[in-house]
Amino acid sequence: MPEILEIDDEEAERMQQQAAKKKAEEEAEHAQALKDAERRRKVDDENKKQKAARAARVEEKKKQTAELMKKIGKVDLDDDDNPDFLFTMPKENKDVNVKDLGYKIFVDDVKGRGIRATRDFKVGNLVLKAEPFAYVIFDHMSEHVCHQCFNMVVRDRQGQPTSQLLRCSSCKFARYCSRECQKKAWPTHKKECMAIKRIAPRTASDEVRMVSQILWKQAERGDKRAKSEELCRVEELCDHLNDMSFEDVQKLEEQSKEIGDYFGYENLPDSDEYIDHLFGIVSCNGMSITDMRGLQYLGVAIHPTLNLINHDCNPNVVAVSCGPNIFVRAIKPIKEGEELFISYIDTSATSETRKQILKDQYYFDCGCKMCECGDKDELKSAYVMPKEDVPEKRSTYIEKNTDIMLKKIESSKKVQAWERVAAQAGGCLLQQENLFDDTHLKKLTILQTCSEVSAILNHYDDAAQYAERVLAAYEQIYPEYSTQIGMQAYRLGVHYWHLQRVEDAIKMLGRALKHLEITHGPEHGMYQDGLEMMKTCLQERQMDKATLMRIRVARERMGQGKEIDMANHIGNGPINWTSSNELSWKGKN
Ligand SMILES: [Zn+2]
Ligand SMILES: [Zn+2]
Ligand SMILES: [Zn+2]
Repeated sequence: MPEILEIDDEEAERMQQQAAKKKAEEEAEHAQALKDAERRRKVDDENKKQKAARAARVEEKKKQTAELMKKIGKVDLDDDDNPDFLFTMPKENKDVNVKDLGYKIFVDDVKGRGIRATRDFKVGNLVLKAEPFAYVIFDHMSEHVCHQCFNMVVRDRQGQPTSQLLRCSSCKFARYCSRECQKKAWPTHKKECMAIKRIAPRTASDEVRMVSQILWKQAERGDKRAKSEELCRVEELCDHLNDMSFEDVQKLEEQSKEIGDYFGYENLPDSDEYIDHLFGIVSCNGMSITDMRGLQYLGVAIHPTLNLINHDCNPNVVAVSCGPNIFVRAIKPIKEGEELFISYIDTSATSETRKQILKDQYYFDCGCKMCECGDKDELKSAYVMPKEDVPEKRSTYIEKNTDIMLKKIESSKKVQAWERVAAQAGGCLLQQENLFDDTHLKKLTILQTCSEVSAILNHYDDAAQYAERVLAAYEQIYPEYSTQIGMQAYRLGVHYWHLQRVEDAIKMLGRALKHLEITHGPEHGMYQDGLEMMKTCLQERQMDKATLMRIRVARERMGQGKEIDMANHIGNGPINWTSSNELSWKGKN
């Protein structure tokens, strides 16, 4: 007979309780596991649903585009150098091993770091999409844009805002277009919000805010790499402190002293050198970011991968900003193993000027082929007559006068005195005609101004004539595919539309879309805008005059067909804007 262990009542009760507790715990665990599984399932489902919805949206857009393309395909376009490019579907990198990014970093003893293609890219292919490691909205732009989704305030013709952004009640600095955006932004904004309050009513400089963002992001990602750091960690970027002038370094050190008050001393890294290093990185690698259409500079960001791409004045890829992301697309065929080159600056300047800018801002001597042979330099200072017939005194006088005039025009623009801008630019152009060629840079600047200001004043006939000349000059001085050519063709197409020259508008917008598809890609807001404009033109082509007038009046009221440049200025502040959509490495220059 088995021995019976005697257990007293108390002990038995305790054991019973323990067993019950254990059982309850197990049950709770089980329930939790079920709940977790349920939640995971829900998240998975939601993801799947969203993915399907996204795919459906993309399909729908493709279908719409294809249909539209079929219609437009009938249009006879002048430009048949590359007819098969026109209106083809998005050329994303299909059939590619997902693990292969398509590019990789390399280190060269002489050149330093760079990025190389690991497969072939055709013109128009998306080579890489760079997300920012960190970004800030410029102080002077902060109230005009949602800090999360980059939606701009919508304004009516008088410049009055038609929709109000919500303000963070805590710091009164961050703005959002909706509660959802505020919610999404909060994990990132939380620390910034506290920092802003910490020094209120003083404000921190954009640089201090940017370095703080980097420090917070670094703390968050710890030893891991952020997605944007796939090729290089943010702190591994060059600070060029040794190349900077004494004054520049001093300025930088003064900025770096201000970070403690804002960031909070208790969390600040101990090493002052490290803080200076980060300020140096921001100053050399900060890239401007724009609204979703790429028209207005909104802030500055750091994209570590992108910063590794070296410069060439005749690049094989172009970087275009769309909100905080930057898309890099091939504008020349690229072979596997070839290095990727971007242009850090607008390449319209002469080789001498380009070299100077690159030396001053990026601390290197450009030895690219285009600089070496002075390619296109002659065009950029061309006269309408043979060189020996140029009256030298007159030419020097007019060049100098143009510089003076440009300064005056700049001040007139700031106070939006458009009539005055028109008179100033028109007078200057009169002097230049019969002397400079349209490709002469000083004349080209004036022609651009004349075209823009005419459009603002609703003188579309003049605007179109000037824009035609600018486009013809652009096609001579820029590479075959460039953001400038696409944008200029777009502007001209819109002018034609205003003039009710619908057939011309369709032709010109077709040219614009061909370029924008390559430089911006079919998903970019600017390309989508161009497509919308094209749709409008195609519809109008079918209408009789009376219907057309009625519809135009209605559209006018809704503000459609607005100019894409100066009219987008917000307020009178010192706003940087880009007419080309291309990035400026340092947005505040
Ligand atoms: Zn938003
Ligand atoms: Zn806040
Ligand atoms: Zn160069």
